[in-house]
Amino acid sequence: MIIIKNFINGEMVDPVDGDWVDNYEPATGKVYSKIPASNSKDVERAVEAAKNAFAEWSEWRLEDRSRVLLRLSELIDENLEILAKAESRDNGKPLWLAKSVDIPRARDNFSFFATGIRHFASESHRTSDHIINYTTRKPIGVAGCISPWNLPLYLFSWKVAPALAAGNTVVAKPSEVTPMSAYLLSELINQAGIPKGVFNIVHGLGGDVGMAIVEHPDVPLISFTGGTVTGATIARTAAPMFKKLSLELGGKNPNLIFDDCNFEKALKTTLNSSFANQGQICLCGSRIYVQRGIYEKFRDAFVEKVSKMKVGNPADDDSRLGAIVSKPHFEKVKSYIQLAQEEGGKILTGGVEVKMDGEFSEGWYLRPTIIEGLNESCRTNQEEIFGPVVTIQPFDTEEEAIRLANSTGYGLAATVWTESINRAHRVSDKLKSGIVWVNCWLVRDLRTPFGGVKNSGVGREGGWEALRFFTEPKNICIKYD
Ligand code: NAD
Repeated sequence: MIIIKNFINGEMVDPVDGDWVDNYEPATGKVYSKIPASNSKDVERAVEAAKNAFAEWSEWRLEDRSRVLLRLSELIDENLEILAKAESRDNGKPLWLAKSVDIPRARDNFSFFATGIRHFASESHRTSDHIINYTTRKPIGVAGCISPWNLPLYLFSWKVAPALAAGNTVVAKPSEVTPMSAYLLSELINQAGIPKGVFNIVHGLGGDVGMAIVEHPDVPLISFTGGTVTGATIARTAAPMFKKLSLELGGKNPNLIFDDCNFEKALKTTLNSSFANQGQICLCGSRIYVQRGIYEKFRDAFVEKVSKMKVGNPADDDSRLGAIVSKPHFEKVKSYIQLAQEEGGKILTGGVEVKMDGEFSEGWYLRPTIIEGLNESCRTNQEEIFGPVVTIQPFDTEEEAIRLANSTGYGLAATVWTESINRAHRVSDKLKSGIVWVNCWLVRDLRTPFGGVKNSGVGREGGWEALRFFTEPKNICIKYD
């Protein structure tokens, strides 16, 4: 049994009250580790350490902050195999995916912001002959970073890296569902040369640890990625305290596939955009709208390919999908498949559990599922399912496609498939979405603004946006003779 510890002030420590919660392996459905069930006392210790470390860290030369963060990035790379295995075991995602996407991206997040901070500049405005305004951007203090379970180390580092690079100290909380890679990362922090207290990790339940971070008066900025309902709770608490807030929330992303698309490319990528990571990526397209002229051809080819996707042991190289992350989430996804049928949906493929043998017989596996025959306003098409379940529906005109795409309360990402450059621009412009991919999906350039509109969040991560979030601007206006 692996016992996970908190990482506070440069040391691995037990939770103050000595309480623990079980951590499950999705592939087997069995408990394989214990994580601290920390509470506000542990958060207090972490915030105290981070506060004490802030004065020194925020004054470190940029080059030195950059150097230790680059070292942490290298250490992630050197431990890629171990971290990927841990991530796959903890989350249920295929090992090949953790090796090729999750851990390399965590490495790159640290190197990107470690180097980015050395190029980050603020503005100066010459107002008139004898007046100049210039803006300073300074680190703010202790940053609270709270992340979800779907891309554990990838999203954890996506917040922590810019927060630290900008000169803040951090109290971070990974998801209690997938704590392992953050725990392994904590073993690398001292090795990288990051001073004690600069980067603290507290494990535990959201309502206890996450809330204690959000409520803490000495944590002036909160960067959160997770569900929309949790985001609203955090906003309710943090807003009256006037904290700086970045909220990256849920999605219900549309894929618009036009008659004039490159059919084979659209088909191939839609398999991924629907079911990568068991459909548990906030950017997965879960509503597929196909123009009438190719609807049947696309649907039939899609169903055929999806029905052949292998669901299996995450450690096997040929498993296209692994296990669903947790029992409660497994039950939630299944309840949506049930709901879809009650709403009149027809299951074209999937819709059932996969029963595995031997040690995997208690794991949580679902066949990738395609549902047809639902209108856009039903709950299945309005609510985030966040699993291997997509709906498919035809449309006739471009206007109708745009209306359908914009018909939910979410607005995170959208995908458009067309060979017409004019249509690509026209449609992209009209989509109410933070991100639009045309003829591709999940192509990520870390310099671009990342985030959603409507119920998908407030604020943007990535590039200068992240460094601006993690710094406080001050305008200084000087009149001189
Ligand atoms: P969640 O909201 O349940 O939990 C996210 C994190 O918040 C966890 O660490 C959790 O412990 C913590 N938390 C829970 N309640 C809290 C509270 N009251 N106060 C403070 N912290 C609390 O989300 P999840 O189930 O872990 O993740 C899935 C969700 O995340 C989906 O909705 C998905 O779309 C979203 N997501 C969004 C993005 C994005 O970039 N927009 C990326 C990945 C996932």
